[in-house]
Amino acid sequence: MNHPDLCIAGAGIIGLSIALELYGRGYRVAVFDRGAPLAESSTAAAGMLAAHDPDNPPQLLTLANLSLSLYTEFLDRVRALSGINIPFQTHTTLQSISPHTIPANTELTHEDLTRLLPALTPGNHRFILLDEHSLDPRQLASALLTAIGATTIDLRLHTPVLSARSIGDEVEITIPNGIIHTAQFINCAGAWAASASRLPNIPVMPKKGQMFSVPLPSSLPLHFVVRTPDIYIVPRTIGPSAGRAIVGATVEDVGFDKTVHSVDIDRLRFLASSLLPAIGHAPQLEAWSGLRPATPDGLPLLGLIPGQPNHFIASGHYRNGILLAPAAAQVIAQLIAGETPSIDLSPYSPARSLSLIPSP
Ligand SMILES: Cc1cc2nc3c(=O)[nH]c(=O)nc-3n(C[C@H](O)[C@H](O)[C@H](O)COP(=O)(O)OP(=O)(O)OC[C@H]3O[C@@H](n4cnc5c(N)ncnc54)[C@H](O)[C@@H]3O)c2cc1C
Repeated sequence: MNHPDLCIAGAGIIGLSIALELYGRGYRVAVFDRGAPLAESSTAAAGMLAAHDPDNPPQLLTLANLSLSLYTEFLDRVRALSGINIPFQTHTTLQSISPHTIPANTELTHEDLTRLLPALTPGNHRFILLDEHSLDPRQLASALLTAIGATTIDLRLHTPVLSARSIGDEVEITIPNGIIHTAQFINCAGAWAASASRLPNIPVMPKKGQMFSVPLPSSLPLHFVVRTPDIYIVPRTIGPSAGRAIVGATVEDVGFDKTVHSVDIDRLRFLASSLLPAIGHAPQLEAWSGLRPATPDGLPLLGLIPGQPNHFIASGHYRNGILLAPAAAQVIAQLIAGETPSIDLSPYSPARSLSLIPSP
């Protein structure tokens, strides 16, 4: 494609979901990634659609609810293009909650917990049940890539965007072998968003998360997510990873280092086995890490970068990018098309970046 209508930096779930939405609206889209597609945070994730996690900032809920309302349609679109079905792996989450915030009459009794999950050792945790789904991000990634391949979206891999700046009514983007002028540009470079636009007012930084997976012992048939503020255990129930559980995750400020440390994995295993002792003896299948794109207030940046006409950003989805992808795609496409977005985007406005950056 020689003349895309718009260019996107970053082929993670956010960039590719936006590309698919814009393609559906008739735009000619090019996506640049500095490496392979969906090889960073989007396939390191556990895949919980945790809109009601009590640890989320309250202002995230509107965007999260919009995304939940769009999720089935999003998966249907991916299936229609790819021929691949992406099933939900779980439909319920057993959530530990502080006694001060527990909604009336929702706390599970000891008998409830024993009936639901006899192997659970709840300790001091108080649990409620959340109506929440999870999916396998690796299944989603492979279906999404196949879907992209069935479109005219121009996916250019191993092509980093080195800078982007607005000039007149265009955006000039620099890639290693030249300069491209595009009518509109969207920075979806995840934890690397600041370096893709090379602008000072993009407060996105990496927060490392390490995780591991185990085969679930036959004594522990787990069909829902177990989550506390410190640890989550996410079973895979359908597909090639069925019978495994994903255990995560650390939250670390260590820059772009993705090294997996056995001491950290051991700590996660200790926390998981204090809830489900059988996890303590299960052999480790895999361990990995990813870099969540985080902002200082935990909310994403969705919209035009201040002072940069036609230069959009969709990053900073932190712990919830798998959940938020359909909503991010819809609202960014609405902004690009000059439509009124489905929800008030002011809590996620990049204009707040200026107040988020600490002064030197
Ligand atoms: C351990 C862990 C567990 C998680 N669990 C969940 C969960 O259960 N539920 C949930 O909703 N979310 C979860 N997340 C968060 C979720 O994974 C992220 O919010 C989401 O993947 C962010 O997607 P993204 O497309 O913005 O970033 P990424 O997937 O990181 O993609 C960014 C892309 O940009 C590319 N790029 C970087 N620089 C450039 C450049 N200069 N030019 C071109 N391309 C560039 C990268 O190569 C990469 O492909 C988890 C994350 C981690 C790490």
